[in-house]
Amino acid sequence: MKRKRTRTRRPVAMKIPLLGCILLITLIPLLLQSRFLLSYFYRNQAETAMMEAQNRCLILTNRIRNLDYINGMGNNSADPGLDAEIRTTADLMNGRIVIIDGTFRIVRDTFDISRGRTVVVEEVLRAFRGETVTGINEEKAYFYLAIPVYGNPESAGTSGSGETVTGVLLMTASTEALAQAEERAAERLALIQLFLLLSVAAAALVSISFLLRPFKKLQQQLNLVAEGNLDQDIRVDTYRETSAISEAVSHTIGDLKTLDQSRQEFVSNVSHELKTPITSIRVLADSLKGMENAPPELYREFLEDISDEIDREGKIIDDLLTLVKMDKSTPDLNIAQVSVNAMIEQILKRLRPIARKRNIELVYESIREVTADVDEVKLSLAISNLVENAIKYNHEEGRVRVTLDADHKFFYVRVIDNGVGIPAEFQERVFERFYRVDKARSRETGGTGLGLAITKNIVMMHQGAIRLQSKEGEGTTFTVRIPLNYIP
Ligand code: ADP
Repeated sequence: MKRKRTRTRRPVAMKIPLLGCILLITLIPLLLQSRFLLSYFYRNQAETAMMEAQNRCLILTNRIRNLDYINGMGNNSADPGLDAEIRTTADLMNGRIVIIDGTFRIVRDTFDISRGRTVVVEEVLRAFRGETVTGINEEKAYFYLAIPVYGNPESAGTSGSGETVTGVLLMTASTEALAQAEERAAERLALIQLFLLLSVAAAALVSISFLLRPFKKLQQQLNLVAEGNLDQDIRVDTYRETSAISEAVSHTIGDLKTLDQSRQEFVSNVSHELKTPITSIRVLADSLKGMENAPPELYREFLEDISDEIDREGKIIDDLLTLVKMDKSTPDLNIAQVSVNAMIEQILKRLRPIARKRNIELVYESIREVTADVDEVKLSLAISNLVENAIKYNHEEGRVRVTLDADHKFFYVRVIDNGVGIPAEFQERVFERFYRVDKARSRETGGTGLGLAITKNIVMMHQGAIRLQSKEGEGTTFTVRIPLNYIP
């Protein structure tokens, strides 16, 4: 049998998505951690630099205060020593120092470009209010400091300017170097992360292949089954999943084996059944051949027997074909609204002569009018088989009763006889193909052993059910239940 394969996607090895997941789970925290670490590193460095700058600037503002440097500038008596110190501090911090006097004018600029300009920015105003203002501008990569310079108590005398802010020291310094250091750290970190990731990938690959080993084992066992070894034991109990797969596959293989066995049995039964009439024909023909001067009556008698055997062979083949047609996965049913009463009457009319031959009374009791959705030809065959059997497996002057009843969902046909009955131990098996309780009697009456198998198949196709009650020597009742409405 050709199996249809509809494959839309190439399957991937389970290893790949597993590895992907593990790497992703490792990578995300690593990246978050490095982001956090780098930003912490930058801030920490910047803050250290700012602290140092602040300390140096505080020393400067003290000196400026003590030397009355701002007022001195006004008098043109600036201290050259302090001047140099301011410049050195600015250079050391890689920045610029600007000193602003009480009128917001720049009196000293280490870059010598803004002297004399007026600076009114928020940080300077806050410093004039006595605050030490610090901040970082990460975007433009610099930090700034604004430190108040108090008035010289000695020169202020009693005016109290020792507590008044007479100027502001403003320092700005580039953090470019810190950013570069951060970049270098980031590169190092990336290298470490790459190494970590590769180690994780290697470890993950080893663990995954170890963890997937039971599935591989299962696959190997299944490959053996695929090669046709149906006796291969499928069992991998390492995981609950592999155990469940093993169980399901073993179960399916068991079913397949039973199916295979019953198919073989069926083929051997068919061969046997088909051979029996041929053997009889051969025996009859051979005996005729061996007889010299046989009278014409004997010829006629033998030829009639041969003709009977050919009929039998034909009937077996017909029944087999009927069964094979119904065995298709989608058997064709010709469903139509049918009067079941009329259908049964027709069957009985056809079978009455056979019953009469054996003086068997054939009675029909219809409790109500029934119309149902059925395949008339098939269902007629099913019920005919039951009535024929009730006549065949009966005594002379026996009785066969057929009843029809219905409720709101189903109709029920009962075929009741007071014939030979079926012993309890065979009741289960009579629906099997070629199964006969009394082989001699079945042969004698021209049975093929397929009648009940066909009947059961037809009833099942109509989504119905068939049941039998029987007592040996007392009689048999077959009950067929079919839904009134057929739902495909
Ligand atoms: P067959 O062609 O032999 O009649 P069936 O499949 O119709 O085959 O029936 C199978 C066997 O069941 C018969 O051989 C017979 O032994 C038994 N059987 C069927 N119907 C009856 C019945 N009404 N009473 C007694 N035995 C029956």
